[in-house]
Amino acid sequence: MTDIRFRGAVSGPRRTAEKLPRSVDALIARLRPEEPVHCLRPAVMENAARSFLAAFPGETLYAVKCNPEPAVLRALWRGGVRRFDCASIGEVRLVRSMFADAAIHFMHPVKPRGAIREAWQRHGVRDFVLDSAEELAKLLEETGEGRGLVVRLALPKGGAMYDLSGKFGAQPANAVALLRTARPHAAMLGVSFHVGSQCLEPAAYARAIALAASVIREAGVAVDLLDVGGGFPVAYPDIVPAPLADFCGAIADAVKANRLQGLALWAEPGRALVAAGTSVVLQVQHRRGLELFVNDGVYGALSDAGAPGFRFPVRLLRDSSATELPFAFFGPTCDSADRMAGPFLLPADVAEGDWIEVGQLGAYGASLRTAFNGFDKAGIVEVADAPLLMTPGYEMTKAA
Ligand SMILES: *Cc1c(COP(=O)(O)O)cnc(C)c1O
Repeated sequence: MTDIRFRGAVSGPRRTAEKLPRSVDALIARLRPEEPVHCLRPAVMENAARSFLAAFPGETLYAVKCNPEPAVLRALWRGGVRRFDCASIGEVRLVRSMFADAAIHFMHPVKPRGAIREAWQRHGVRDFVLDSAEELAKLLEETGEGRGLVVRLALPKGGAMYDLSGKFGAQPANAVALLRTARPHAAMLGVSFHVGSQCLEPAAYARAIALAASVIREAGVAVDLLDVGGGFPVAYPDIVPAPLADFCGAIADAVKANRLQGLALWAEPGRALVAAGTSVVLQVQHRRGLELFVNDGVYGALSDAGAPGFRFPVRLLRDSSATELPFAFFGPTCDSADRMAGPFLLPADVAEGDWIEVGQLGAYGASLRTAFNGFDKAGIVEVADAPLLMTPGYEMTKAA
């Protein structure tokens, strides 16, 4: 049994005293909600963390921006995660307030000075990412002896569904110079990169590691850490990624082939640890042919179903023997861009008042919600259901 909280994107939680069922179907039958309900699966996230930690041949940092919900962070902690990749002082404060013993790493290459100072002085943060001489100067001024410095390397545009190559990272020649300048000031010196989110190609990590190795050789200084970033993929309809073991194998092989075994190895997964851990139950408020007007959309938890064009697994929450048809969704706001093309396969008789469960929304779902147009209320509840989709390598090893 559990309880439910309704809250806006920007307001605090509100709890009900009512004890609720732990299955999505029973819960929705009881609540008959007109607002979206986020169904958290703590056991699924705990299991994903355990799977990743067991498979990855190094240390695992959770990328907090992917989903900073405290229940999510607690589930990952139970799964063995002890290190957190934070990008803002807000994330640093949140993690420190929850886990006195967590290792917090400040992995945003552009940080306000006050955030650096507070992280260093008050929250025990020691490792900081940089990709420019200006950021290095800032870090040397605002921190002291014992600091770890990690140079973020730019990568050529790769095959990930979310390209992250345009904004951060030092070009190889600059990275060489930064490593040389930083070395005398760093208790721990590292190189990091990010291959892009939802990266389906294990070889992308191998190519990035080879580039990192060439930068390290060229710099000619001792480097202590290689951080291969995030990007580890999950399953979506029509997308079954290679098993997690293939990605970890490609990384381990590339580390060996490039003679980097002496370095500590880190990864910063976000999506892979939490995507399967949350579904959102929507209600159909209107049907127009093959278009369903639902109560959440691109300004809510379904941002990735809009312009980025992600398809999510869906399920009608009642029995129907009707054949499946391809539907598009409209979100509740008045913006016509609030449309999700899908297609989402649902029984032909789906109608106003029906509930639809949308899976794989634990990553970049709740964390991207806005209060636009007053549609910010959503429930959050914990359930014990299996996820709608399973990603190879993350099969449940422990009963929920
Ligand atoms: C967003 C981000 C991550 C997590 O990426 P996923 O694709 O969700 O695994 C890791 N590291 C950095 C620096 C990021 O910006």
